[in-house]
Amino acid sequence: MRTLNEETPSKIGSTVTVTGWVHRIRKHGSVTFIDLRDRTGVLQAVSGKWNPEVYAQLNELSPEDVVQLTGGVVARSEKSVNPDLATGTVELQVEQVTLLSQAVTPPFSVNDSTQSVDEELRLAYRYLDLRTERMQANLRARGRATSFLRHALDKEGFIEVETPLLTATTPEGARDFLVPTRHKGSFYALPQSPQQFKQLLMVGGIERYYQIARCLRDEDSRGDRQPEFTQLDMELSFVSQEDVLQLNEKLVIDLIRALYPEKRIQQQPFPRITHAEALERYGSDRPDMREDKNDPNLLAFCWVTDFPFFERTEEGGWTFTHNPFSMPHSDHLERFMAGEVEGILAQQYDLALNGFEIAGGSVRSHRPEVTEKVFTTMGHTPESIQAQFGHMLRAFTHGAPPHAGIAWGFDRLMMVLQNEPNIREVIAFPKTGEGRDPLMQAPGPVSDAQLRDLGLQSR
Ligand code: ASP
Repeated sequence: MRTLNEETPSKIGSTVTVTGWVHRIRKHGSVTFIDLRDRTGVLQAVSGKWNPEVYAQLNELSPEDVVQLTGGVVARSEKSVNPDLATGTVELQVEQVTLLSQAVTPPFSVNDSTQSVDEELRLAYRYLDLRTERMQANLRARGRATSFLRHALDKEGFIEVETPLLTATTPEGARDFLVPTRHKGSFYALPQSPQQFKQLLMVGGIERYYQIARCLRDEDSRGDRQPEFTQLDMELSFVSQEDVLQLNEKLVIDLIRALYPEKRIQQQPFPRITHAEALERYGSDRPDMREDKNDPNLLAFCWVTDFPFFERTEEGGWTFTHNPFSMPHSDHLERFMAGEVEGILAQQYDLALNGFEIAGGSVRSHRPEVTEKVFTTMGHTPESIQAQFGHMLRAFTHGAPPHAGIAWGFDRLMMVLQNEPNIREVIAFPKTGEGRDPLMQAPGPVSDAQLRDLGLQSR
């Protein structure tokens, strides 16, 4: 038998062997209690003077030692039942102790959820931090959510496809991480999102794609931003904006019903508001519509639609607001093709939750001349369009289905659902606010030989 919480209460009278970490030790006169922890919970184990050898062994243990205990499962007396523990009706009368791995004194205690530990220290010893109840709960919830989503999307006829991490630069509005190669002067870029690949998959006849995708953007971290983060990314062929909104609304509601039955969604169907209305009424393009912002179980979803296609750059030119591959509003298409820019709306939508943007997407342009016009509007020359986006435009000349998609900021969604203050709490190995990993000590210097291979110099 391996699990504590799940099985011990039903094993009264039998002898079992359990393994785990020493969570807590309590010495009471001639009796010693060990709370033994595994991923399912905590079991109280006990020995005392009546078994001098085992008692001495228990007294030698310290928190976070990994042990195997064999003993009889006995019912606790009525007054020693612990209603807060799933195993609180039983305890293990230890007969045999095997120390599997000895632990040094941890830099912070794993068993005290009230202490506040410096985040740098938590991340430097993330493997200890992951043992805490909070991190165990967050990672478990995250795993359950991805598994739920995969299952639900598979049922909807989606195909999970992996796209490359080593690729060329993708215009998502942030700085790229570059990867030098041994071919001097030639670089890969890490994808800011699978945007181009998912559209190429539509040209490739996949029709319904999804991926739990890692995105990499070299931008300053904030509470809801990390240099690498996870999207639930999807793209569909032969659909309208309405289809994408409905499918995603159902998906997120089903997810919450299945995994967060205690949460209430303020309004269903989700309210929809245009970008202009959102700014006017809420002063934000991700409005928080909750009636009670302090209620941890209240969720307020809202779709924001009709984003302006372009916004002014600091230099006075134009850049896209969301995604250069979007399709202008159908009523605006003719005016856009005739050269109008100001006031042209895109078929772009965001999903806001409690004041966070948790998903965003658009109906794409599958017409090369429209996408080309987007890039000329942004000041690209025909040559630079060909050099940077020629492959996309060419693909669209080979029979491109109308398509649309969306990507969820999966870490942000999990942050809100888990009532966490930042996305680092729902990522197993996140970076600090400055983009460092104190555990792996990344980023860091590399050897001169490695630099030489890449034809690089470091100053
Ligand atoms: N690729 C977009 C993003 O990362 C999402 C989308 O338009 O599907 O924001």
